[in-house]
Amino acid sequence: MSLQIGDLIARAARTFGDRPALIDGPRTVGFAQFDRLTDRLGHALIARGLAPGDRVAVLVPNGIDGVVTYYALAKAGLVRVPLNSRETDVELAYKVADCGARALITDGRRPAPTEMVIDTAELDTMIADAPDHPCRVVRDPEAPLRLAYTGGTTGKPKAVILTTRSELAEVANFLVDLLPDIGPDSVMLHAAPITHGSGAFFLPHLVKGAVNVVLPKFEPQAFVDAAVAHGATATFMVPTMISLILEDAVIDRDRLRLTRLCYGGAPIAPTLLQRAIDTFGPVFAQLYGQAEAPLAITCLQPAEHTPGRLTSAGKPYTFVEVDVRDKDGTSQPPGSPGEVHTRGPHTMSGYWGRPDATAETVEPDGWLHTGDIGQFDDDGYLYLLDRRHDVIISGGFNVYPREVEDVLLTHPAVREAAVVGVDDPTWGQRVCAAVVVREPVDGDELIDHCAHRLAGFKRPRRIDFWPELPKSSVGKSLRRTVRESMNTESIDTTESIDTTATEVAEHA
Ligand code: AMP
Repeated sequence: MSLQIGDLIARAARTFGDRPALIDGPRTVGFAQFDRLTDRLGHALIARGLAPGDRVAVLVPNGIDGVVTYYALAKAGLVRVPLNSRETDVELAYKVADCGARALITDGRRPAPTEMVIDTAELDTMIADAPDHPCRVVRDPEAPLRLAYTGGTTGKPKAVILTTRSELAEVANFLVDLLPDIGPDSVMLHAAPITHGSGAFFLPHLVKGAVNVVLPKFEPQAFVDAAVAHGATATFMVPTMISLILEDAVIDRDRLRLTRLCYGGAPIAPTLLQRAIDTFGPVFAQLYGQAEAPLAITCLQPAEHTPGRLTSAGKPYTFVEVDVRDKDGTSQPPGSPGEVHTRGPHTMSGYWGRPDATAETVEPDGWLHTGDIGQFDDDGYLYLLDRRHDVIISGGFNVYPREVEDVLLTHPAVREAAVVGVDDPTWGQRVCAAVVVREPVDGDELIDHCAHRLAGFKRPRRIDFWPELPKSSVGKSLRRTVRESMNTESIDTTESIDTTATEVAEHA
């Protein structure tokens, strides 16, 4: 019918044979071995009674077992539902039930009942007992291949349906734009969960004969040491991980071989990005994407990380369309903000079991509403202002929290910042900030710092000091939690704003 994911793996096996394909601590799996392991496990899963299209939840930490399971599922025509082991049982149970998983493959945890449970301890026996010939349940390119749950930063997570069509396009996007130089000498170091962004780097490296090295979990110094030991050429991180590495790890740039430190998944403060470039060199590649358009909407190439462009998310991938539109769907010219829309063969086919949400998000002609507000500049670079739901409207003015956070982060004492809107009877919402500091600092000093750099209506009216900011299981800052917390706390009248004439003028 059409090219299957299993075909890519078999082809890599024929070309690269016994060369190492996958490394996890002391374990190394060659290309041919990886092909056979996934064939055999695919047969074993079918022998258990699983049928094409069945959803299989996978709750396995970063490592060989998880990767082999993912691709065995693809070969067996089963729909993988990767679950992140850092999530709570309640979060996981919701997902297992939402997608109607028939089976759970787990390293022991059982957050929810499923008809079938396969413990990772059984995998070796299942593989050993299975027939040794190719397993290829051919699926329509439009049939679900995997379900990716959205981060849940705005509400209950939704399962994004990704197909063989979208997966192949995702690989092609990466090879064309983000990682055009991968070859058998390349080494991809997975430090972030392969359930999420990092997983997208696996196949592009595999098909080109490169090694994928999987770390069990992220620790700043362990990451740097592994990058040196394995001669990593590429990695993927969310900005929080970059920040932790700069704070906590000792980095000797001369011992690193990294040519692509890919980052994305959340906004990065330009101050952090500049520090990171100063430390690691000009190896940073930013990707902007989302579960609905997996990791490919725009990218900012290493050479484009020039001082004026550090706040840009880059230019559209070659085979991806991007448009900025107003509420009525009219394309906006450079310099005018609107919702970012995208279209391409890698986008989702819809949300699992949510036709209404799908219809709200995907236009009949394939354009996807990203929910992000952004604007192009005259050179075709996209600048993301914020999530549509996070925009604060204060006195009728739009305040993009990211802009305020970036200013707070230029203060040397501020390590992390989350800016949210707190309900206010006069202004609708007022700008408030939760910050994590490196050293004690007065809230008024931070407000003053902003006052010199931002228009009056953007200035935080209240600064709360938090020991740490809430993050999702993949390290994204959860503004929603901050907002809920700051909105439920009684407002400290000493800090609330006076509606003076000056304030009104500042708003205008
Ligand atoms: P998720 O679907 O959980 O991966 O979240 C996707 C969202 O993360 C996007 O819609 C953006 O709001 C945000 N995001 C992803 N990449 C970037 C980036 N490079 N810069 C800023 N925000 C980003």
